Amino acid sequence: MALLELAAVASGYGQMQILWDIAFGVERGETVLLLGANSAGKTTLLRTIIGLLPCWQGEIRFEGAPMQTLRPAARIRRGIAFMSELGVFPDLSIAENIRLGGYFLNGGEVRRRSRRLFELFPDLANRQGELAASLSGGQRKMLGIAKALVSEPKLLLMDEPSSGLAPVFVKQVIEALRSAITGGTALLIAEQNVAFLALADRGVLIEGGHVRLTGTRAQLAENDAVKAAYFGLD
Ligand code: ATP
Repeated sequence: MALLELAAVASGYGQMQILWDIAFGVERGETVLLLGANSAGKTTLLRTIIGLLPCWQGEIRFEGAPMQTLRPAARIRRGIAFMSELGVFPDLSIAENIRLGGYFLNGGEVRRRSRRLFELFPDLANRQGELAASLSGGQRKMLGIAKALVSEPKLLLMDEPSSGLAPVFVKQVIEALRSAITGGTALLIAEQNVAFLALADRGVLIEGGHVRLTGTRAQLAENDAVKAAYFGLD
């Protein structure tokens, strides 16, 4: 049984349909890249999975149980975390951001887990009382990752972790994810940056609100449509 399974999912804003007949799954511990151009519908899909947008049709199953009618908080309690494009609250300190990520845990547990995360992100460890707004773009993404992982989610949904970052920082974010993801957390990463394929087991290409293609990392990297759109090759 897949950890997350989408079947014929449709969603949108108001009267405007953005997603049609979305179907794919994410297995436990797996990293799936949700690839697509601007406005393809990636953010809309992540918001629908976490429950910030209603699922108009179809089913969203988590560990086998339908959850499309649950509130976002109930989905989070089941083990899903969402890292938005902004990722952090700039007006809160680094420590406060991490505490919020562990909102459903007791204080001792948050401290134990944050110690491990701070070992991975020493830049953050030394500045725990400072505002997130004082961090560089790359450091904010690291904080976003730490904030999302402190709850030790079964599934982490990430919206464009590369946004606003220079290529060198994108590489750092990919390396940080590689070392921070332990204990079987699955990732569903919405991205336009194909560098993230390096992290992925599989990919799903979304175009105009439809799944155009699903496949292994190698199949996506070899696909002519993906090459043309994302690698600038024909
Ligand atoms: P991007 O990389 O630009 O974020 P995306 O693949 O994440 O692209 P979405 O943000 O899901 O795309 O947008 C899909 C479509 O939904 C776009 O046409 C967009 O204009 C529209 N849309 C997004 N947010 C809203 C909103 N709050 N109200 C109405 N339409 C919206």
